[in-house]
Amino acid sequence: MSEWYLHWFNWRGVPVRVHWAVLALAAFELALGRPWVRLVGFAFIILVHELGHAVLVKRYGLSVSAIQVHPLGGECIHEATRDQRQNVIIAWGGVLAQAALIAAAFAVMSLWPEMRGPYLSELFSVLTVSNAFMIAFNLIPIRPLDGHTAWQLKHLRSTLVKQVVAKAKPKGVPATRRDEIEALVDDALEQARKATKDRERP
Ligand SMILES: [Zn+2]
Repeated sequence: MSEWYLHWFNWRGVPVRVHWAVLALAAFELALGRPWVRLVGFAFIILVHELGHAVLVKRYGLSVSAIQVHPLGGECIHEATRDQRQNVIIAWGGVLAQAALIAAAFAVMSLWPEMRGPYLSELFSVLTVSNAFMIAFNLIPIRPLDGHTAWQLKHLRSTLVKQVVAKAKPKGVPATRRDEIEALVDDALEQARKATKDRERP
């Protein structure tokens, strides 16, 4: 379906495309004198989100064939992952990139407070408030949202244990301590799983 997309730019050799409907909507907003910066803000958030996925995909040595932004979201088209653990970590990449964008927007606004005009205020509100709502929505654990994959935390168990052990004792952890750490990680994962289940209830 790439014929519906226009080439936007290349990111580390990956074509980034935007759906023509995004441009049509922007032109429509502009023609009606509506705050078109909101649309630009949303497109930018989606771009940052997909780049968050793409950075992690590339870290696993997998290739990304395209990043596409469309009116309902976006997609990062990439080579198949090796296991579900990679899928879970890649799923978190998108929302973490959005969270970084919120932090960056606050940093810019606090460094240059005089920069506020009607357009920039509108853009700032999209990049922070709307962005936070998008993160929360996207983390609802249902398909096709990222939350469906992101909360499958059990796949991160071995990674978490490894990291905790590496931090706790750089020069080798006694077997008994390792068991304790694994039990702690299991506890934390069980808590997170329960929290997700609660969230699923209406
Ligand atoms: Zn995503």
